[in-house]
Amino acid sequence: MSNIHVLDEKTAGKIAAGEVIERPAGVLKELIENSVDAGATQISIDIEGSGKDLIRINDNGCGMSEADLEKSVLRHATSKITSFDDLEHLHTFGFRGEALYSVAAVSRMALTSFNGEGTGHRLELHAGKVVAKSPAPAIQGTTVEIRDLFYNTPARLKFLKSDSYERACLLKVIEESALANLTVGYQVRINGREVYNLPAQTGEFSASVLARAQAILGEEVAQSLLARSFDEMGLQLFITPVEKLVSVRDMQYVFVNRRPIESKTIQQAIYKAYQNARPKDRHPAFIAYLTLPPGDFDVNIHPQKREVRFVNENHVFGFIMHAAGETVFSASRPVEVTEQLPPARINLPPSAQPAATQLFEQTSPVSATEKVYPQLPAAFFQPKPKVSLSETEEPVDYVARPEASSSETAQPPVQPSVPFNAGTPASSPVWFEGPYRYLGQLQRSYLLFENPQGLILVDQHAAQERVLFEQYLESFEKREIAVQKLLFPIHVDLPPSNAQTLLSWAEFLKTAGFELEPFSARTVLVHTRPHMIRFKEDDLKEFIISLSQVVGDPTKSTETLKRSMVAMLACKKAIKAHDAISSAEAEALLENMQKCKDGMHCPHGRPCVAQLKMKDIDKLFGR
Ligand code: ADP
Ligand code: MG
Repeated sequence: MSNIHVLDEKTAGKIAAGEVIERPAGVLKELIENSVDAGATQISIDIEGSGKDLIRINDNGCGMSEADLEKSVLRHATSKITSFDDLEHLHTFGFRGEALYSVAAVSRMALTSFNGEGTGHRLELHAGKVVAKSPAPAIQGTTVEIRDLFYNTPARLKFLKSDSYERACLLKVIEESALANLTVGYQVRINGREVYNLPAQTGEFSASVLARAQAILGEEVAQSLLARSFDEMGLQLFITPVEKLVSVRDMQYVFVNRRPIESKTIQQAIYKAYQNARPKDRHPAFIAYLTLPPGDFDVNIHPQKREVRFVNENHVFGFIMHAAGETVFSASRPVEVTEQLPPARINLPPSAQPAATQLFEQTSPVSATEKVYPQLPAAFFQPKPKVSLSETEEPVDYVARPEASSSETAQPPVQPSVPFNAGTPASSPVWFEGPYRYLGQLQRSYLLFENPQGLILVDQHAAQERVLFEQYLESFEKREIAVQKLLFPIHVDLPPSNAQTLLSWAEFLKTAGFELEPFSARTVLVHTRPHMIRFKEDDLKEFIISLSQVVGDPTKSTETLKRSMVAMLACKKAIKAHDAISSAEAEALLENMQKCKDGMHCPHGRPCVAQLKMKDIDKLFGR
């Protein structure tokens, strides 16, 4: 790639303007795209601080001549398009010719490049002004070094978040790029410590995706991915089966012509494909690669959001939904159907990866789907109780706790020692009109009480969760959470970007009773838990992973909202009191519910108490 030219004003004006570099991750994204566009097969990235101090990216791409090097930092200088017509036919996205110019303007930049002819060249700029030019060693490729980002724009500097947050954003950019560009090797160091070393993939496509997914999403998720390819839209889909859905919503990647994009249409279509088989707090992990003629979609809606709009959104929705449904459910289809469309499940040890070559088969999705989709086994459509949350749209369902396996792990959240009080406090909800008497337990799930009005039924698990939730939330708000040190710290494995997000909330989570410590780029250690909440080890891990999303979610912005999300998730995963409950515990539970702000509902909004009135009972018997 050479011959950089400055776009004429008319062309430049037609490209969505206003590329504003907001944060280090935005800078890195542009620089990586440039390296990929330059045909690099190896990219190494060094980051210091949160990227403000230093972002250095070195590639072995085509390099630039001296003249091109100087032009590259001019506004609207690009070697990638010459006129607006080209926009329609262009296969790369990063073509605004503004990135180097905009970054140079807000940093101290050094560009070093060698394109194979003569010698290399180096250019240094401060706030967009060239301050030095010099020859450089003849090493193929380009190095871009950005120091002191935003040093001359204090307003933007102030806009940046914590270092760990910025690092999480930087890593997310790298993770996306590495999943998009499998044949490029990535080496990433943050403050001198290696975070990623991803060798360039040279093998078959699905094996390459699997190798990258293992490094980025983690072994377990990667191993579970189902893979299938379709002619339409050149779709190559990797997606988790129902039983391997994950607890975070951000292991979701869509690439169009190798560029990461966002598309609500595609995301929603994939969720829809799981129908009722997906519990509300579980999310698919997926990687979808699409290959499309440039005329079929529009990426230039907004330069920063990279939201893609398809020419025919409805069609795309239907197609993706069926394709995903077919991929996810085909593995469990009845035998006759399976024979028509063998499932392609990637579940190989790394050593067997070349065998993945045979995994992809071409199918004609629409016809196959029409035949197969309505025949999905009923087991996949087992409905979970649908519950809506009043405060937030976070999809959370309530699943009754399995019985705790041993008395050692089971700890009733209710204190049977709470003195029994048969009286009715002024603030009692209407259903609580004592005196009441505990009658017993129904199906190890419901507690039955009588009171003068009739029969009270309490959903034991929902009630326990409500009581725990309110007690926990209250001490959380007062910053009075007593913690219990874990005998052995729990190792939680998660994508480095998620690990960074978690750590950026370490202080907040400490007030929630969870003390975290970084262990490696993708491992976080948990040292404590709140005293009042006990977890099985796997549930604690899952809880911590899902936290990385809750705390980082910008739509749950207030601390109050974050606190209640944390409390809700924690109580959901907590070990509840054993099913077999003593009458003292049953009475104490009712007592504690009475003290709750909302003793009528579990934290997810389901009712946990019902009263059968005497007159209704009498009616049953025709009295
Ligand atoms: P754009 O990528 O939209 O063309 P940029 O400002 O990002 O605009 O880059 C300007 C030009 O500089 C590119 O078109 C390309 O020719 C050249 N360039 C930038 N980075 C590199 C690189 N790493 N290797 C080779 N050429 C590069
Ligand atoms: Mg660019």
